[in-house]
Amino acid sequence: MTFKAIRVDKTDGGQTVGLVDFDEAELMDGDVTVRITHSTVNYKDGLALTGKAPVVRRWPMIPGIDFAGEVEASSHPDWKPGNAVILNGWGVGETHLGGFAEKARVKGDWLVPLPESLSAAEAMAIGTAGFTAMLSVMALERQRLSPDRGPVIVTGAAGGVGSVAIALLAKLGWHVVASTGRLNEADYLKELGAAEVIDRAELAGAPRPLAKERWAAGIDTVGSTPLANMLSMIRYGGSVAACGLAAGMDLPTSVAPFILRGVSLLGIDSVMCPGPRRREGWARLAADLDRAKLAAMTRTIGLKDVEAAGRDILAGHVRGRLVVEIG
Ligand code: NDP
Repeated sequence: MTFKAIRVDKTDGGQTVGLVDFDEAELMDGDVTVRITHSTVNYKDGLALTGKAPVVRRWPMIPGIDFAGEVEASSHPDWKPGNAVILNGWGVGETHLGGFAEKARVKGDWLVPLPESLSAAEAMAIGTAGFTAMLSVMALERQRLSPDRGPVIVTGAAGGVGSVAIALLAKLGWHVVASTGRLNEADYLKELGAAEVIDRAELAGAPRPLAKERWAAGIDTVGSTPLANMLSMIRYGGSVAACGLAAGMDLPTSVAPFILRGVSLLGIDSVMCPGPRRREGWARLAADLDRAKLAAMTRTIGLKDVEAAGRDILAGHVRGRLVVEIG
């Protein structure tokens, strides 16, 4: 028995990627088998598909860190055939065979029920990127930050995490400042809810320890110099949720924003996010994310298009979110 999948193999010269008939006997251990209907391409999937960073740590691999589908077989007490489920993270698509496939076998403990008000396609339009945007918003809320404290800045605004973050923050009443390298997408960003769009060049200069206070909060998807500059411009007592590295993994900052303005830097990880917070995040997404905005930021592709999409997302050419329609 075989199923269609994107397969990555290691070679002497790097790696090969292709759409293949994958042997079901090669599926890894797990107590739930899922028939996948939808997946999505995130930045990390781009790294896995191109081999540009060591995301894949087992070969052969089926990349794809997210999927949605229907339980086909289960020996896990929480799941039975026909249940609609979502998976995001837990090393799937990195160390465990992932979502760019018609089938997956995983641990039942990794699965989340598909919220009743979401379709599988909508869940994957959200995906790890949207889930991470939600975790970032929740982290700011745990700091008791609210829209009356001032504006919030979102970097990598036209990307997946950025687009969902803007829609969520606007719905929650924030004055959202979108930082982008694609000023031609200003109308798109304003439709999602941005009140202001700024050129990411404003965060590109050599960071100073402190600069003029501008924003009460931030969601940063890019890291490196832009994050250092953002920290130097956060208002007294504000916080930044840091979730990404699209501009680089370094952080050329000083302790000045932390010790002189009481600024907090909040780390966001979606992969190993514990079950209760995971369920809360998905419930909040089902409640707080405007579906028309989600649709406006989403494009649908097929499994055959995934490899090219991986290159596009690393080049910063993908706007919003990509759903992979599988079955
Ligand atoms: P996207 O590629 O969709 O978005 C990234 C955006 O960053 C781009 O669209 C672009 O936005 C901006 N960008 C790209 N290159 C640069 C650069 N050199 N300098 C400044 N800005 C740049 O990716 P995702 O939204 O899927 O992911 C964003 C980041 O978040 C990635 O680094 C990803 O690894 C990380 N991530 C982390 C997670 C976690 O658990 N911590 C989970 C999910 C994602 P624009 O064109 O608007 O400037």
